Amino acid sequence: MIHTSFSGRLVMLGFGSIGQGVLPLLLRHIAIPRENISIVTAEARGQEVAAEYGIGFTVEAVTRDNLRDVLIPRLRRGDFLLNLSVDVSSVELMKLCQELDVLYLDTVVEPWAGGYTDPALTPSQRSNYAMREEAIALREAAKGGPTSITAHGANPGLVSHFVKQALLDIARDTGTIIAPPPASDRAGWASIAQSLGVKVIHIAERDTQVADRPKKPGEFVNTWSVDGFVGEGCQPAELGWGTHEKALPPDGHRHGFGCDAAIYLMRPGASTRVRTWTPLEGPFHGFLITHNESISLADYYTVRDAAGNAVYRPTAHYAYHPCDDAVLSVHELAGKNWQMQPEKRLMTDEIVRGMDELGVLLMGHAKGAYWYGSRLTIEEARKLVPHNNATSLQVTVAVLAGVVWAIENPRRGVVESDEIDHDRALEICRPYLGEVVGVYSDWTPLQDRGALFPEDVDASDPWQFKNIRVG
Ligand code: NAD
Repeated sequence: MIHTSFSGRLVMLGFGSIGQGVLPLLLRHIAIPRENISIVTAEARGQEVAAEYGIGFTVEAVTRDNLRDVLIPRLRRGDFLLNLSVDVSSVELMKLCQELDVLYLDTVVEPWAGGYTDPALTPSQRSNYAMREEAIALREAAKGGPTSITAHGANPGLVSHFVKQALLDIARDTGTIIAPPPASDRAGWASIAQSLGVKVIHIAERDTQVADRPKKPGEFVNTWSVDGFVGEGCQPAELGWGTHEKALPPDGHRHGFGCDAAIYLMRPGASTRVRTWTPLEGPFHGFLITHNESISLADYYTVRDAAGNAVYRPTAHYAYHPCDDAVLSVHELAGKNWQMQPEKRLMTDEIVRGMDELGVLLMGHAKGAYWYGSRLTIEEARKLVPHNNATSLQVTVAVLAGVVWAIENPRRGVVESDEIDHDRALEICRPYLGEVVGVYSDWTPLQDRGALFPEDVDASDPWQFKNIRVG
């Protein structure tokens, strides 16, 4: 089905696992002349895929110095810059797109190369909180300007739409009568989450994809960007900080600037584990990797009193169990004090089985815990769209939905995922998500605790971060 048409030029910056996976979706669902699409990327990787679809391909790494020289000749008013690169500042690209009147979408707020691990920056300065603050600071000046969607992949991205659907499901199943507000009505959505008593939101993901060969010593293996994962894994652990939390973690810090919806822990996310739950996996430990949505969800769902004090906010964070070989890779990386392994492998054709179970787990409401999300197997992903695995397809279809939404809503300025109509996005994504299910659970982070050893838990409120964090 053709969702929309586009007569401008579309420049794809970066053509790694996500770029290659999204190209067939763009060509299938957006009426755009092939010659209007071009790719600019730092390496030859993916050149054969571009050639397969007849798309122009230029190898040119974008840097601080050449950004304008490379992009300005390729973009004019009404065009689209689709940023799927690593190591290029999202904020600089967004500024350029506002200046040139060009539509824009990315899937993370990416810093310039080295920005995630620059020892000259404080942990707060290299947090996603700080990067998001920089991106949303462009909002005011961008009002009424070309739509610039920040951080819309699977997570961040699609999961914001899952949260809204989950809230509506919980309201229905608890007999709470509500009319779904438009996405622009942030306060309306926040008051729904508050009235349902949602205390914690996890992005609860279990990737079970397995390759035909195991990880080798000295090799980092993952189902999506190795650089992207290692970069965010080495940032401080970050979480949206709920108003029900009784005490900051001993290593928890506030940033002291910006929206104040989130905190960071003085340690990398890839060494911070949390208890979570998905329907097929059951209880498991996930990494508390920092993500943009941990902050944007907490900010979007904040209710303030007349004096501006936050009176309601859910705790929100990622709880990620990557594929088993990536867990081994993280373990090895930590042992080397976060010095990257000499070899990297992005799992594609060698995957033989498994799925990505990716959803949101809303906790603390009248029905306990509710997981809503996608279960996509590698077999289904391959059948649905070439050049994808289960993980990438959940991202690439969300990129497609964001691009379509931006074309349909071209003058919205800077927009976060939570501000996009969830119905429209899910309508576009659903055919590519495998089984989309909502499942209630009586799981809590206190289940089966303390049987073998005494544990310091808060039995009076299972939904305290203290209980969720693995000590
Ligand atoms: P990848 O590592 O497979 O590919 C990155 C691409 O960027 C490569 O084509 C590389 O050549 C290009 N690149 C690197 N430096 C560049 C430069 N200076 N100029 C131009 N191009 C450059 O990564 P991927 O898995 O395709 O991920 C792409 C982006 O999407 C990353 O930022 C990643 O964090 C993000 N991502 C987001 C989600 C989500 O759900 N929101 C999921 C997966 C990936």
